[in-house]
Amino acid sequence: MPTKLYKILLILGIAAVIVAMLLFWLSYRTPKNLEVDFLDVGQGDAILIKTPSGQNILIDGGPDKSVIKRLGENLSWWDKQIDLMILTHPHDDHVTGLIDVLKRYKVKKILYTGVVHDAPNYLTWLNLVHDKKISLTIIDKKQTINLSEDAKMEILYPDQSLLNKNLADLNDSSIVIKLIHGKNKFLLTGDASENVEKILLTNGADLSADVLKVAHHGSQYSSSQEFLEKVKPLTAVIMVGKDNDFGHPSLRTIMRLKRAGAEIFRTDEKGTIKIFSDGLKIKVK
Ligand SMILES: [Zn+2]
Repeated sequence: MPTKLYKILLILGIAAVIVAMLLFWLSYRTPKNLEVDFLDVGQGDAILIKTPSGQNILIDGGPDKSVIKRLGENLSWWDKQIDLMILTHPHDDHVTGLIDVLKRYKVKKILYTGVVHDAPNYLTWLNLVHDKKISLTIIDKKQTINLSEDAKMEILYPDQSLLNKNLADLNDSSIVIKLIHGKNKFLLTGDASENVEKILLTNGADLSADVLKVAHHGSQYSSSQEFLEKVKPLTAVIMVGKDNDFGHPSLRTIMRLKRAGAEIFRTDEKGTIKIFSDGLKIKVK
């Protein structure tokens, strides 16, 4: 190769590397919004939160491996870290996808309740967590987790330890989270039923939220009128699979949500639903 051509190629190569590094640096420097992606994983929940400080939080993993595809679509290709994994409750449609997430992503920390359940997928997940020696924290009281200067998660439920307890209805062990970014609030309810809603109402917790992740895939036994009157959601997200066997979402729940003034977005109709917060207003994409 002639020396001159070699020199030109070398200079172009160096320039390309500098531009790439600059773009990478800029993408980290630009102040970011908070983003909540309600991932389309069919009949189940998987919610990816990207915090303004660049952390990835995954709440539940859906019923199968499809969460891996969805994470790939919604994270940068080099981003293989989940800073915090939360399992709301150990039913298959929430825990199963998390097994593959543990295998393919570096998970730094996990929150769960420790409630008793002996289904194979939950036990596989738990064994993998122990094998990988990931820090495991049991939620046994109300608490606040600070994410960045203007973002935090309030754990509203459970307000007591469920560790090693047998519950008649595991849905009612669901961790309920209020995610707050500036003035914007997201209420994430897992599969909690009216029983949990009553406890939250009695506790006098501030339930008001711009966005409600409708509990239990729109089941009629959740999202009571009393509860919705306190939440007053402008936006309601129903995570539900097409033609599921449970009749989710219930028409009654949809009517209650509409009466409460919420605009409804469903993953079976829209696929993954992305909601952005700049701390003042939210934008649905
Ligand atoms: Zn569920």
